[in-house]
Amino acid sequence: MNTRTRRAVAPLLAITISLAAASGAAASQPATGPATATGSGGAAATVDRHSTQAAIDALRHGANAVDAAVTAAAVLGVTEPFSSGIGGGGFMVMYDARRRRVETIDQRERAPQAMGPDAFWENGKPLAFKDARYSGLSVGVPGTVRGWATALRQRGTITLAQALKPAIKLAREGFVVDATFADQINQNLDYFDDVPATKALYLDPDGTPLDVGTTFRNPDLARTYERIAKHGTAGFYKGPVAAAILRASRRPAVSAANHTWRPGVMTQHDLRSYSPVWRKPTHVRYRGLDVFGMGPPSSGGSTVGEALNILSGYPLGSLPREQSRHLVLEASRLAFADRGAYLADPAYYRVPLQGLLSEGFAASRRALIGDHALASPIGPGNPYAFGGTGGGRGRLSADTTRAGSTTHLSVSDRWGDVVSYTFTIESTGGSGLLVPGYGFLLNNELTDFDYDSLTKPNRVQGGKRPRSSISPTIVLRHGRPWLTVGSPGGSMIITTVLQLLTDRIDLGMTLPQAIADPRASQRNTPATAAEPAFLALPETAALSARGHVFTTTPEIGASTGIKFLGDKGEVLAAAEPVRRGGGSAMVLRPTR
Ligand code: GLU
Repeated sequence: MNTRTRRAVAPLLAITISLAAASGAAASQPATGPATATGSGGAAATVDRHSTQAAIDALRHGANAVDAAVTAAAVLGVTEPFSSGIGGGGFMVMYDARRRRVETIDQRERAPQAMGPDAFWENGKPLAFKDARYSGLSVGVPGTVRGWATALRQRGTITLAQALKPAIKLAREGFVVDATFADQINQNLDYFDDVPATKALYLDPDGTPLDVGTTFRNPDLARTYERIAKHGTAGFYKGPVAAAILRASRRPAVSAANHTWRPGVMTQHDLRSYSPVWRKPTHVRYRGLDVFGMGPPSSGGSTVGEALNILSGYPLGSLPREQSRHLVLEASRLAFADRGAYLADPAYYRVPLQGLLSEGFAASRRALIGDHALASPIGPGNPYAFGGTGGGRGRLSADTTRAGSTTHLSVSDRWGDVVSYTFTIESTGGSGLLVPGYGFLLNNELTDFDYDSLTKPNRVQGGKRPRSSISPTIVLRHGRPWLTVGSPGGSMIITTVLQLLTDRIDLGMTLPQAIADPRASQRNTPATAAEPAFLALPETAALSARGHVFTTTPEIGASTGIKFLGDKGEVLAAAEPVRRGGGSAMVLRPTR
């Protein structure tokens, strides 16, 4: 790759800028497909045209939304290997039209049993983030393959082998490397080139990222998928793939490394004993709608839900735009203070979910909001006074501004089923460890623990799931699907979903307008992260006058969603027009 291209795809740095300097929009790249589609018979929206097409093809052949979602996800494992794949985990929220209820499957990675709170500590200090991330230690026991199998077996109509077919074909035939793909390699170059297997797959022989415009094939991943197709989940959690995962994470094979890659402690037992969990969704009522989200160990549903409960006390839609934006930022600030203190894996910590989502607790938090921005970090409230029990008040953990990767897909079918699915390998490029001979990257999900604390609810513990921000959301109106949205973006997932919901429900935007709306993310930090285009909005000067301080970040989130139109089965599917290179939305039968 020549230097000109290299510079064009250099990682974008978050920098603090003054309001006056803010101009322009988020970094733009050509979209991969139409970002919106209206029609009936089923719909899909993902970040990638191949993936959306695979979902639509499945729907055309009679598959339901769960089948199509898994089919699309398997393709994303091929085309979006730095954000997702079988080396990671995720959360699936589903509306089952026949049962008329929302259900969720937690496919989150778990810490190996042998890990304790000080797993990431050396010489009395926690490791720096990059040392923790690029290591075997950060690799959680992957949940995706068992998650897919569970979803298909219990709510699908096709086999795992059928769902993997389009992905296998694409992995073998290849696809064209675009600027986003090359940029994601470039972001990791200094570490990818330490690991021979990663380097061999993603770097050119001269050590630069694969060139934009060249065809990328991954026959090793095709064979791994085929093995899973043939043997089911045992093709992944047992046998040669399992052995290779253990080798790659326990003894990272690095050569000519300019970094130290610490070994992990995962065992065969950890892999074999992994299981996904069906969990009750979170639920809040908002403006007469029923908003369902992902419960703990994700903090998505509870934090979005608490913020909505706080906002339900204001007529956002009839206030000046500047004031409604102020209130959304403040509600988010308060909800994040509580998220930091009370959210963790419920198998290890009694999360006071009932209190956090109660109207009384929301009222107590709302009472703190004034005309001026609150000064963060602010402390958590006391949800115990409002129902449920818990593990005791956690200590505040301020949120870091790490933006990871991940991908979100939205699917619906002709029967009215809906799937909202976010899956991830955590950071863009995960741990950087490719499983040699099998073509997939291992996650670094365990850095989602508060690994720098020995006492916080979200500290590292053997077998535990790290707290997530993933927020797949399904909104019902009168018991029927009305809207589904979700996004990647680390802890900015939560603020992205909150903004999408308030933009659509309160501020009168259509779903595509809400997806395109310039974003800001307030997570109980002194400054609010904002896209350059947000800083250029007419109302932002008034927000600054209220005491909001902004730092700029090039892009926040990359969402997809579906809006259900009326009761004749018509839908509007939407993906990002610009962020992350743009996404792709399709429907089975387009409306003329
Ligand atoms: N690991 C993150 C989480 O579960 C998601 C990754 C991301 O989008 O950054 O919250």
